[in-house]
Amino acid sequence: ADSTPRRHNVRLPPDTTRAAFDEAIAALRQHLGADNVVLNDKPLVDGWYLEHPNTHDAFHVVDQEDLVSSAVAYPGSTADVQTIVKWANEYTIPIYPISMGRNVGYGGSAPRVPGSVVLDLGKRMNKILNIDAENASCVVEPGVSYFALYEEIQKRKLPLWIDTPDLGGGSVLGNAIDRGVGYTPMGDHFANHCGMEVVLPNGELLRTGMGALPGKNGTDNPTWQSFQPAYGPYSDGIFSQSNFGIVCQMGFFLMHETGHQSYMITFPRDEDFPEIVEVIRPLAQKHILGNIPQLRHVAQELNVTGLPKSHWYSGSSPLPRDLIRKHASQLPCGDCSWVFYGTQYGDAASIDSQLSMIKSTFSRIKGSKFFLPSDLPPDHYIHSRALVCSGVPVLRELDWLNWKPNAAHLFFSPITPTRASDAQVVHDINVHLHAKYGFDLFPTLCVAGREMHYITNIIYDRSSNDEKRRAAALMRELIAATAKEGYGEYRTHLLFADQVARTYSWNNNALMRFNETIKDALDPNGILAPGRNGIWPKKYRGKGWEL
Ligand code: ADP
Repeated sequence: ADSTPRRHNVRLPPDTTRAAFDEAIAALRQHLGADNVVLNDKPLVDGWYLEHPNTHDAFHVVDQEDLVSSAVAYPGSTADVQTIVKWANEYTIPIYPISMGRNVGYGGSAPRVPGSVVLDLGKRMNKILNIDAENASCVVEPGVSYFALYEEIQKRKLPLWIDTPDLGGGSVLGNAIDRGVGYTPMGDHFANHCGMEVVLPNGELLRTGMGALPGKNGTDNPTWQSFQPAYGPYSDGIFSQSNFGIVCQMGFFLMHETGHQSYMITFPRDEDFPEIVEVIRPLAQKHILGNIPQLRHVAQELNVTGLPKSHWYSGSSPLPRDLIRKHASQLPCGDCSWVFYGTQYGDAASIDSQLSMIKSTFSRIKGSKFFLPSDLPPDHYIHSRALVCSGVPVLRELDWLNWKPNAAHLFFSPITPTRASDAQVVHDINVHLHAKYGFDLFPTLCVAGREMHYITNIIYDRSSNDEKRRAAALMRELIAATAKEGYGEYRTHLLFADQVARTYSWNNNALMRFNETIKDALDPNGILAPGRNGIWPKKYRGKGWEL
C-alpha cells in the first residue's frame, strides 16, 4: 500500500486556486530558500515510527489522502517562523505547526484542515539551547527528541534524569504542548515545563513566565527556568492543546538521579478492579507510590510479548476471555486479571520501607502476587518499564503494532477520579463497546493521584476500510457514552477533536466561547491550525468544518 500512486494531485488549501497557491509558494520559497519548502505531491508513504511521514497521518483512520498537507515548510529559526506567519496572513493560507510529528494515535503530523502548509519545526530547529546543571533544567527547541536530550545529558556525565513517555522518539516540546505524560515523579510534562518563547498568529514574539522580564544587558532572564507563574495571569496554559501560538523554545525541569526499584503486582480476578482502585487511591494521594504507575488488563501481557494476535488466536473476533486466561497461565504473570507496574525511588533503605508498605497494602486483595524484575525472565516487559521509569527512552512499546498486519492505533483517553465507582463506569462502557465493535480491549490506567488517565489502545488494520470504519464508530460512541456519564477525554485524535470539545459544554459552551474569543483576538485571519482541539477561527465557524 506504501507505494501506490496518488489518486489526487496536491491538495490545495481551502478557497485557494492552483495559480494563487503557486504564487504563494513561490513567495515562501523566496523567504526560506527553495529547499525548505516542499510540495506534498509524491506518493504517500506511511513509513514507520522512526521514519515517519510529515505529509499525512500515517495511522490513517479515513482515506490516506484525506488528512494531507499541501506543502511542508522547514523554518530554521524563530525569525523564519515569524516570516512564515506573516506570509500566511498575507496569502490567507492555513499553517499547521508540528515539532517532530510523532504524535502517533492522535493524528501524527497531519493538519486538521487538509491542504494546510505544515510547519515542520523540528527538522532544522533541533538545538538543546541550555542545560543548567545547578538549576536542574534545560531549554530546548521543537526538534529535540527524548533520545537526543538523554544522550546529551549522558555525554556531559550529569547526574540528571529526563522524563520520557512510552516511546522515546517524540519531541520533548511537542509532547508537553500536547500535555503528554511520562512515568517518573516528573511524569506530568506540562506541569514540569518552565517558560516558553512563542510566535503569535500575527507574527509577534512573546516570552512567558519570568522570560518576560529582560535579563541584564539583553541576556535571558536568570529566573526564566526557575519560577513558572511570574506575574499576572498565568498565560502558558493557553498555548497547550490550542492554536494560539507556535512554541519555538520551552524550558523544562530535570530530575535528580536517584535509586529506583520497579515491580509488578498481579491480581487474580477481573472483579478485583474496584478494590484495586480503592487500594491505589490513598497510596497515590500520599505520594507513597513513587511515580505514575500503570494498571493494565492482563490481555496486554500477551500483546507486549511482541507476538501477533494470530499466535494466540486464529479467529478475527476479540480474544475470548478464557483463551487470554489459558495463555496468561503460560506467561510469567500467570493466570491473573490485572497487572500493576510501579517504581519506587530513593536510597535502598527508603525503597525497602516503601515497598513493605505497598506490599502489605495490596495484600488486602486475595491472591495478589508481587514480582521484582529479578524474579522475571530477561526478555520480560518489566525491564523496559524499569528503563522508562528511570528516565531512559526506549522503543519497546512499538511491539503493540505486531498485533495485526498493517496495524495502526487510536487512543481513547478519558480521565476518571481514582475512585472505584467512577472507574468502574468508564471501564464497563469500554468493555461493552469494544465487544460491540469487535475490538480487543487493552486498557492501561496511568495513575497520577486523584485522577487516572484510562487509556485504551484501539488497534486496527489500516488496509481494511471495514476496520477503520468500526474503529472510528467505536471512538464516537465511546466519547458520547462516557460524556453522558460525566467523564471526558484529556486528548484525542484530530478527527474527534470537535466531538470531544463539544462535550465540555457547561453553561451553554462557555469554555468554547471563551476559547473562540481568544482565538479571534489573536488570529483574526484564522491562519494558525484551524480546528485544532475543536477551536475554529471565525472564518471557518458554522461552514461545515466541524465533525
Ligand atoms: P511529538 O513529535 O512529540 O509526538 P508533535 O510534533 O506531533 O509531537 O506535536 C503534537 C501536536 O502538538 C502537533 O500536532 C501540534 O498540533 C502541536 N504542536 C507541536 N509542536 C508545536 C509547537 N512548537 N507549537 C505549537 N503547537 C505545536
